[in-house]
Order: sequence, then C-alpha cells, then structure tokens
Amino acid sequence: MKCRVCRGPAVIDIRRHNANFCQEHFLRYCRTQVEKTLKEFSMVKPGDRVLVAVSGGKDSLAVWDILLHLGYEATGLYVGLGLGEYYDVSGRHARRFAEERGLELIEVDIRGTYDIDVPTAASVTGRAPCSACGLSKRHVFDQATLAGDFDALVTGHNLDDEAAVLFGNVLHWQSDYLGRQQPVLPAGHGFPKKVKPLVRLGERETAAYCVLAGIDYLVEECPMAKGNKHLHYKAALNLIESESPGSKQAFYFGFLRNAVDLFSEQRTYSEPEEQRERTEPDDDVGMLRACEECGATTNSELCAFCRLVRSTAGTKPVPIAMTRKRN
Ligand code: SF4
Ligand SMILES: [Zn+2]
Ligand SMILES: [Zn+2]
Repeated sequence: MKCRVCRGPAVIDIRRHNANFCQEHFLRYCRTQVEKTLKEFSMVKPGDRVLVAVSGGKDSLAVWDILLHLGYEATGLYVGLGLGEYYDVSGRHARRFAEERGLELIEVDIRGTYDIDVPTAASVTGRAPCSACGLSKRHVFDQATLAGDFDALVTGHNLDDEAAVLFGNVLHWQSDYLGRQQPVLPAGHGFPKKVKPLVRLGERETAAYCVLAGIDYLVEECPMAKGNKHLHYKAALNLIESESPGSKQAFYFGFLRNAVDLFSEQRTYSEPEEQRERTEPDDDVGMLRACEECGATTNSELCAFCRLVRSTAGTKPVPIAMTRKRN
C-alpha cells in the first residue's frame, strides 16, 4: 500500500476516494478537506474568532487542532453535563489538549451554574437523556458564543454523524429538520452562526487524524449513548458503505446539492437541529421573543432550557444507572 502523494509506505486507506496516504499526507489531506469545506460553505474566513465545542472526543479535538493548523484563533468550550465518571475523563482530555498548547478553554458546568445535570433533568422531566443533554448543550453553546462575541460556533459533527441524522430524517420525512440540516447555519433571531467543518471526514478518519497527530482523546462512548437510534442508522449506513464505498458521501452531499433547498423554507436561522423534542412550544417560529429568564430567543415566556432548569433545579441528583434505559 503506497501513499498516493509521495509513493512512500501508506498508513491508511480511504476507500471512498480509492486512495492511500502516509502519515504526513494523511494529516495534510484532512486539513485540506476542512479548508475546502470552510471555503465552500462560507463557514468562517481568515481572521474570524471561533468557539469550538469540545467534548474530549476525537471529532472535537481533531477539528480544534485542524483549525489551529489553518491559522484560526480558536477557543475551546467544554460543558460539564454531570454524566458521572465519563464526563470527568472527557473533561481531562479537553483540558490537557488546551494546556499542552496554551489555549483558552471556557468551562461551564451545568450542575455548578444551573443546579441541574443530564440524568436528573431527564428523570424529572421524562425526557430521553440525549434530549435533555442536547437542549442543555445548545443553550450553553449559544450563550457562550454570543457572550464572547465569537464569529461562529464550531462543532465536530463528521460525515458519519450527518449521514446518520439525514438517514433518520428521511426515514421519517421530518421536513422541518431536513431544512435545517446544513453544514452551516447562519446567525439570526438571537442565535449565533454554527458550522460543521468536518462533514467531509468520516469518523474513522477523525480517529486516525488524532492518533497520527498525537492527540490523546476519549475513546469510550457516553454511558447514555446505548440505544440511541442514530447508532442504528450509522450501523445501517456502514453496511451499505462497506459494499459500496462512497455511498455516505454521495447521500449527504447529494442531499445538499439537490434537495436541501426544497426544505429550506421551514427554517433558515441557527435553531437547534437535532434530537429536539418536536412537541416543544418553541418549535413554532411564528412568535419569537426573548426568554424572561435568560434572554434567549423563544416563543413562550421561558425558553425550553429555562423550563428544564425550573423543573429540575433543587431536586435530588439521580444516578446515571436509573436513566440509562430511556434513550
Ligand atoms: S450520547 Fe446523549 S447524553 Fe451522551 S453526550 Fe451524546 S447527547 Fe449527551
Ligand atoms: Zn505521502
Ligand atoms: Zn431561557
């Protein structure tokens, strides 16, 4: 197996591109793919200040590292969600990455700041843990990006993530979600710009990037992930991809090229895009106003996050084991 660029010994093959790369040229390939994505979708431009949502996993650390290599001023944001030991370890990975490189890492612990955590919020409100988690993360991401006057919030969603979410949205014809499934969501209505620069890289590639770039990331999955339907969608797409390399990329980028505009009337600003409770009143974009508690855009007195806090804060913390099955 030889590197496509230098003909030296290759360390990885990318079947969908029918290409092999040595370490140096694989790292360069990943950075070039991200650079191309940033430009193609007008995500950020040189000189922009970005906030990177960092979980300590391979994707968020890879995108942070790549943005730094591309010359961006990138600050990290780590959200402590109260997911037991998993999040203690993930926080250590995020902190170590930042410390070793002398980078700023903003930390928000939702137990310390809002007196809630994901397992307890899920248990008290009857939400699936990933729904309570997604709502909490989005709120903190939005607030931190706006408070710090960053030009964009960066998340580490990769091609596998986006193809799996698209697969689920198509399977259930969730047209409002399909309209929002873009790699860049513009700022507007009090929401910051959100960008996903890793959509050209699969998760095998982001993992390989970290290993080959010497980035120590959290390998274990979140204890709440078990049973998440997106894992089934990923498994189904992996099966197709193994028989027909390039299918995921064709599916996702074909959708962006040929179909997303058909759904874009549904919503054009940077609203939450995944794992959202469809029954939330603020799903309705018609009557937007500021949340009385936090000022976030909503269509009721309180935004969904403040309602979550109101129902959860002050209750006895619930151990993870009691919420795990409900995803
Ligand atoms: S798997 Fe669910 S609970 Fe765990 S970090 Fe992801 S969204 Fe949050
Ligand atoms: Zn090479
Ligand atoms: Zn609020």
